[in-house]
Amino acid sequence: MSVTVFDPRIDTTDTSSTAETTLAAQAATALEESHSAAAPVKKVFVTTQGCQMNVYDSDKMLDVLGDSHGMQVTHDIDEADVLLMNTCSIREKAQEKVFSELGRWRKLKEKRPDLVIGVGGCVASQEGDNIQKRAPYVDMVFGPQTLHRLPELYDQSNEQKGIAPKNRIGTIDISFPSIEKFDFLPEPKVEGYKAFVSIMEGCSKYCSFCVVPYTRGEELSRPLDDVLAEIDNLAEQGVREINLLGQNVNGYRGEKDDGSICRFAELLHYVSHVDGVERIRYTTSHPLEFTDDIIDAYAQLPELVSHLHLPVQSGSNAILAAMKRNHTIDVYIDQINKLKAIRPDIHLSSDFIIGFPGETDQDFQDTLNLAKELNFDHSYSFIYSKRPGTPAAELPDDVSFTTKKERLAEFQKVIIDSTLQKTREMVGTTTRVLVEQVADRHPDCLLGTADNTRTVMFPFEEAQKDELLGKLVSVRITDFVSPHMVKGELVEVLA
Ligand code: SF4
Repeated sequence: MSVTVFDPRIDTTDTSSTAETTLAAQAATALEESHSAAAPVKKVFVTTQGCQMNVYDSDKMLDVLGDSHGMQVTHDIDEADVLLMNTCSIREKAQEKVFSELGRWRKLKEKRPDLVIGVGGCVASQEGDNIQKRAPYVDMVFGPQTLHRLPELYDQSNEQKGIAPKNRIGTIDISFPSIEKFDFLPEPKVEGYKAFVSIMEGCSKYCSFCVVPYTRGEELSRPLDDVLAEIDNLAEQGVREINLLGQNVNGYRGEKDDGSICRFAELLHYVSHVDGVERIRYTTSHPLEFTDDIIDAYAQLPELVSHLHLPVQSGSNAILAAMKRNHTIDVYIDQINKLKAIRPDIHLSSDFIIGFPGETDQDFQDTLNLAKELNFDHSYSFIYSKRPGTPAAELPDDVSFTTKKERLAEFQKVIIDSTLQKTREMVGTTTRVLVEQVADRHPDCLLGTADNTRTVMFPFEEAQKDELLGKLVSVRITDFVSPHMVKGELVEVLA
């Protein structure tokens, strides 16, 4: 499932949050440093819709153009030479949103004809050359699996400048060329102590409502050695927390040196042995392959955070069957109970679709009951909307929009109450925190992230700063600040 991962740094209630710490900004700084000597440089602006996979992909787009053409990242669209839109088709009217944004970009291109416009991501993958038909000023179209070919597409579009984009050759590539993308991406560059590592692409689950298998292709895993080499490199650059990324990471089947297959649980063990890696997260997974060996890893690997995001989508077996999720609610609850027996302090989050075709009052009640029973730490919930080309789009959408909205409001109240309760319950406890930065608005405090993704702020002495940044520490929580933020006092350095 495509999911927007909660990032406490962009919590609007967090007054210490800072936009400078986004991945794009980190990439910008790195690129600015590495290319400060080259002039004149082109500037690239990227806008990202959708899930964490897209955030990762956008970062890689900036990397490849920085590496190949020395381009700098800009956050000011008016000074950009290249505009990239990384699109998402998971929500309703995604295509229309893309074309409406492109309409705004068209006006920029009318003023600056040399501007190069590229559209990537899942809408590009679905719409293909239709994008250049509807928006003939778009220079490049590429899919999630071909973003590494962006430098080539850019060169092609420059070489054929006088020709209308729709008549150019080699400026559209939305193929699924196996997993070669990763072989062509530059070495990862990071600032900070956390990094995403993509371990697989695509999804083969074909949930009836989801476009991902059609836009990103079938599941393909990166070879084990490639994943570990990237993590090793990141750890050498100071990264302490690795977030393993994929649409369905527990379907990981990476080839080993000897030709045998490494499954996800085994990968977790390998990653935990990389020098410098202190914390491991993963995003996102499917209950179908949340196997006992993964659950056992929570007993064996302290590096695995005590937080699990396991999308369930509905609390009703009838709806799960219609969604083609291929498991029942009992299976899901059983998995959670096994995990809680091993990690009693585990924090849970999930994804829910409200108002799926055929959802009765009782089905919705079952979903509400599940959320209450499992007391999720936080969750993402959305009103169902048809995605063209998916099997569910053929089902009669028989739940009225008013009912969907009422159910969503009722459901989200349960989730919000639960989030608030969980955050308040942290007061008086001690929690493990990765220390990441000095708080912009409170320079006498450091900020970090707890296992359960809450931002934790605590005071420090200037002399301690270097000793604490990038370390895992234990913090006693003293105050509730906001639903996703707490304040505390340093207890000890853990690692
Ligand atoms: S598991 Fe289902 S919802 Fe998630 S990406 Fe695959 S098809 Fe989509």
